[in-house]
Amino acid sequence: MNRFIIAVTAAICATGVARAEVTQDDITNDQTNTSQIVTNGMGQQLQRFSPLDTLNKDNVKNLMPAWAFSLGGEKQRGQETQPLIYDGIMYITGSYSRLYAIDVKTGAELWQFDARLPEGILPCCDVINRGAALYGDKVYFGTLDARIVALNAKTGDVVWNKKIAEYKEGYSYTAAPLIVNGLVITGNSGGEFGIVGEVQARDAETGDLVWTRPVIEGHMGTLNGEESTMTGTLNATWPGDMWKTGGGATWLGGSYDAETDTLVFGTGNPAPWNSWLRDAGDKNDGTGDNLYAASRLGIDPATGEIKWHFQTTPREGWDYDGVNEVVAFTDAEGNKKFATADRNGFFYVLNREDGKFLNAWPFVKDISWASGIDENGRPIYVEENRPGNPAGAADGGKGEVVFSSPSFLGGKNWMPMAYSQNTGLFYVPSNEWGMDIWNEPITYKKGAAYLGSGFTIKPNYEDHIGSLKAIDPMTGEWKWEYKNDAPLWGGVMTTAGGLVFFGTPEGEFKALDDETGEELWSFQTGSGIVGQPVTWEQDGEQYVSVVSGWGGAVPLWGGEVAKKVNYLNQGGLVWTFKLPKQLASAN
Ligand code: CA
Repeated sequence: MNRFIIAVTAAICATGVARAEVTQDDITNDQTNTSQIVTNGMGQQLQRFSPLDTLNKDNVKNLMPAWAFSLGGEKQRGQETQPLIYDGIMYITGSYSRLYAIDVKTGAELWQFDARLPEGILPCCDVINRGAALYGDKVYFGTLDARIVALNAKTGDVVWNKKIAEYKEGYSYTAAPLIVNGLVITGNSGGEFGIVGEVQARDAETGDLVWTRPVIEGHMGTLNGEESTMTGTLNATWPGDMWKTGGGATWLGGSYDAETDTLVFGTGNPAPWNSWLRDAGDKNDGTGDNLYAASRLGIDPATGEIKWHFQTTPREGWDYDGVNEVVAFTDAEGNKKFATADRNGFFYVLNREDGKFLNAWPFVKDISWASGIDENGRPIYVEENRPGNPAGAADGGKGEVVFSSPSFLGGKNWMPMAYSQNTGLFYVPSNEWGMDIWNEPITYKKGAAYLGSGFTIKPNYEDHIGSLKAIDPMTGEWKWEYKNDAPLWGGVMTTAGGLVFFGTPEGEFKALDDETGEELWSFQTGSGIVGQPVTWEQDGEQYVSVVSGWGGAVPLWGGEVAKKVNYLNQGGLVWTFKLPKQLASAN
């Protein structure tokens, strides 16, 4: 509290009037404060649920454009950001590590920051960025050369700029940073390059490191500049020296559960993809699980110590990263839970207190690599559907090719789902696709791709890949499904007005009925949508924004899926809509 008073006093002295600064209370209350959006996820719970109901099923047809803003430049692609809105300014990030401050009433640019990226950055999956963070008088975002930058939120001037990791080794950074109690908390990207996933906490004022926590067993954490503890137990679940380049990128960032004072971070695929190189013997005794890759971790925000872990895919071998967002919710019986839809095709419900497994159900059809999840949360593997061991194989060292579903891009990838407090349902953007996958020999080389696998991705159905599903977290039942030709790659938002917003690669921004999935409104944005919608209230009117600009991982990977998306145009536009007052009661 003292710190807050001092900050405000300083602001008054400097300018003569109190200057708006984002506080921890603003962040804590973001879900219920409908006049601003200061967190990624529209609240720390990541529900992406707005209590606003001015805009509803009856009047959404009157939702109309208020303004649009072009990100400019020659390099328009993969606009995956979520807008933040505070004190009259919208903050968005853009491809190639750019950040924009926009007048939220007019759409006019206030300032723009372009990170000077070096030659030789190594982003695996397009030059994207997923959003900024706000705290105090600063706005924070990460860059493709694995740095975290703090800018003055009013002027865009650089306050500090720190290196997270070495980009030449394959590290990058694309997630929205997380703010918790004066710390800026970041993950890292680069899981296809044999990097080591890590979570770092910095003083938000100075950028100084407070703690680091590598997520692969055997690596040492740090606290206040000293070594702290080892992650896991050396060689408990990794053979030999493989843990040293073990992957587990924390590339989607994390979240904070205030009720249990726990950071929750997901971890990506173990490296390399070829799981036979990470096999420590008997596959059923846990010695080859490769902790803590393909897991969710609960971390103490004060010390960086791991409080709990839940591994979705032990000895992962399909690129089923375990990074997907973990949404906090209270179920119909009042129990505090987490839900997360994994790349591997299963929707998990966990106990929020300790991360313990409660239940799991498929959220895509045709899962081939496992027949289900057992009572401990462990997959029941279909062993013959694991890509074969290339060691000693006749075919040029290529192991047996298998068909796996979902594909390596996942039943769901990074694009965030939403939860409605009104319906009690999760709205999960998923994709129905598979792949032929095989293993190859590989050795680690710094800064080079470290897969040991090849693959061809293909649709599972002729008429759709994308599939937005309404899922009951009590039973796993799908209440409805909305099919889309191209794969879905953008975020979802729900509102108390009974609406589910999402965009398609075909460029349509849509609102569906949250109970039936019926389409109530649609707007063509001119490029594919892979961004994350938001809504807020301003001058008594409800606004909705989404960033349009096709790109991301899908168009980079070819296979038969390329035919579904190769005609789509890139772009970079913020679209802001509003329901004019005089039309709010019209129907
Ligand atoms: Ca991966």
